[in-house]
Amino acid sequence: MIIHLPVNMAQQQVEDLARQAEAICLKKADKYVLITSSKVKSLPDALKGYASEHFVLDTDMQLSSRQYDASVGRIDIADTYIGGDQRNTLMIAGPCSIESEEQIEQSCQMLLSLGIKVLRAGCYKPRTSPYTFRGLGLEGLKLLAKMRDKYGLKICTEVRDSTHVAEVIEYADIVQIGAKSMYDHSLLTACGKARKPVILKRGFGTTLQEFANCADFIMSCGNEQVILCERGIRTFETKTRFTLDLCGVAWLKHYTNRPVILDPSHAMGYDYGVPDLARACMAMGVDGLLIETHPTPCVAKSDAAQQLDHDAFRQMYASLKPVAAAVGRQLV
Ligand code: PEP
Ligand code: MN
Repeated sequence: MIIHLPVNMAQQQVEDLARQAEAICLKKADKYVLITSSKVKSLPDALKGYASEHFVLDTDMQLSSRQYDASVGRIDIADTYIGGDQRNTLMIAGPCSIESEEQIEQSCQMLLSLGIKVLRAGCYKPRTSPYTFRGLGLEGLKLLAKMRDKYGLKICTEVRDSTHVAEVIEYADIVQIGAKSMYDHSLLTACGKARKPVILKRGFGTTLQEFANCADFIMSCGNEQVILCERGIRTFETKTRFTLDLCGVAWLKHYTNRPVILDPSHAMGYDYGVPDLARACMAMGVDGLLIETHPTPCVAKSDAAQQLDHDAFRQMYASLKPVAAAVGRQLV
């Protein structure tokens, strides 16, 4: 249950009431928000006489549920925003990993030539094998910051584990929590205390309910700026890397109040399928696309097979605009 209390109540009193009701307490500009387990179906006695409103929710997808707040959360990024009253679809692109200054310079120049505002590149890579490239770490974060200063791009990068969560939050404009670490409470809590947008990727064996619950973990720590990213789930199929769950995307759009973005690159795992999938994703009317592109994909140190070269990326980008228009969206 979510309970609103008037903002003019004394904080100590609200905290005492929250403790009695076994609720998490958030202070907003215009109200206190208390959240109990969704198993609570009637207003706790302690809160009777104080609550200005309360909402009974079906599941522990509470703050992220449209049953609680039907409008899609607005998230400001660069000079634009996603969610809210706009039908913007944000392009987030770049190489899987930052590998060198020259490589990331080339990536920035390509993105800028298309008017793309967000550069995404990994510095701390969660890998399937311990014997592969794990990213440039802090050196990579500093290079990304240098690119932001030089080119005015916003930077999005992934936090892999709690050893570097503070650095990533400090350097990034958008923090990504990857599919392999989306259940990590230390990451969810740290990102929940941050005041930056967080892209939460769906684990490849994660149900939609678990995925939404993880969004609630972040939001219940005070950060409402959570963006959900579908990036493919594991099925019996092995010809493609994962299976992009577009039905799941329809569910997320219908039942959650979070902006939803799609990552066809990791789902497909091979560059040949990415442009078609990107158009299909755009046709789903999502709030963003996350696409991997590298100046020379064949020498990429991670995810080489799925990254588009810059020519293929440009062609795909041009082809997305009419699809966006057909579904009443604008590519930003
Ligand atoms: C990535 O975005 O480069 C990545 C590792 O993705 P995922 O967490 O979806 O596997
Ligand atoms: Mn990748």
